[in-house]
Amino acid sequence: MAKVDNWQLNREMDYKFKASPPQRQIAWVFDTNKCIACQTCTVACKTTWTSGEGQEHMFWNNVESKPFGFYPLAWDVKILEKLKRQTWDGDTYAGRTIFEGNPPGEEVLGFTPEPEDWSHPNLGEDEVNAPIKGNDSFGLPHDRWMFYLARICNHCAYPACLAACPRKAIYKRKDDGIVLIDQSRCRGYQKCVAACPYKKPMFNPNTGRSEKCIACYPLIEKGIAPRCVQTCIGKIRMVGFINPPDKAREDNPLDFLVHVKKVALPLLPQLGTSPNVYYIPPIHVDTTYLTQMFGPGVKQAVEIYKARQEKIIGLLSLFGSTEHWVDRFEVAKGEAAAFQNDAELVRVPVKEPVVFRVYKDEKHGVFRQSVT
Ligand code: SF4
Ligand code: SF4
Repeated sequence: MAKVDNWQLNREMDYKFKASPPQRQIAWVFDTNKCIACQTCTVACKTTWTSGEGQEHMFWNNVESKPFGFYPLAWDVKILEKLKRQTWDGDTYAGRTIFEGNPPGEEVLGFTPEPEDWSHPNLGEDEVNAPIKGNDSFGLPHDRWMFYLARICNHCAYPACLAACPRKAIYKRKDDGIVLIDQSRCRGYQKCVAACPYKKPMFNPNTGRSEKCIACYPLIEKGIAPRCVQTCIGKIRMVGFINPPDKAREDNPLDFLVHVKKVALPLLPQLGTSPNVYYIPPIHVDTTYLTQMFGPGVKQAVEIYKARQEKIIGLLSLFGSTEHWVDRFEVAKGEAAAFQNDAELVRVPVKEPVVFRVYKDEKHGVFRQSVT
């Protein structure tokens, strides 16, 4: 085992290989407060990549309702139980990661889901954390809550799937950090399925090989965002390239939200893979639950989000406003603009103008009213 630096844990950790960071690392921010679980992203991904025979159970992108939604069944509950006690000493993780809690003979602490665990992709949809009583009221945070969690492969800095593959079939691309399974090398041992704590590699019984989200790399190479980002109805997603914390740039949207404002957080950072999908936590949910899910920065992230700073609001207005990945943004004079390689992609008002039609049109002497 090598020692690698994991900034999400604020400490070194064991990993099978020495750190070999890519030249650029693809990353996403998902704003959970805006997801409406329409599953447009899921369908866009499914129809693009996994509509073939043997792929029926595959959802490289899925959206589950927390706390009771899972795909596959109980993926997070099972790995967190196996990991046992997870404690943070301030910002420093004091527990074990899946690379430090590995059983003898295994590279990674993991488990293989049962085949039927993949058969109910949205079990628990819209179920709240506890029964609602007649007189329940909703303050912030809510007593009764649920929220939608959109999930794809995290294209991790320290991928568990890659560490576990005995065929060296999984690799992380040097130019963008995308993690891929080489189908010509894979022999379907499913070690990646067991090792990935997010359960994002999936086995294809027809080909006898494992498959996973490819971050729509043919689009990324052309400067375009993945299908799940392009089609997101709720405009919850932004994609770009993230820098390490010590090289963070204020004008990079990923750096700004993750490193500068710390309003977007990794999913289950305690697992140790250093995932690259970052979530703005839901502001209406109990922070004890959220801290287990997104780490110790949750309370601060929620406070910053609620403060509605103009630069953050401006950047959030750019989510879903362009089909491209974004490497720079600016917010000035009431407008937010996104750029790629210094070319302006889109410009939007930070505050959308609202126009009220007058009830009586004096010019034409008619009343305007809704006809339903
Ligand atoms: S989320 Fe899972 S499949 Fe994706 S890179 Fe990380 S460990 Fe591998
Ligand atoms: S398309 Fe966007 S809003 Fe709809 S479920 Fe997917 S992430 Fe949520």
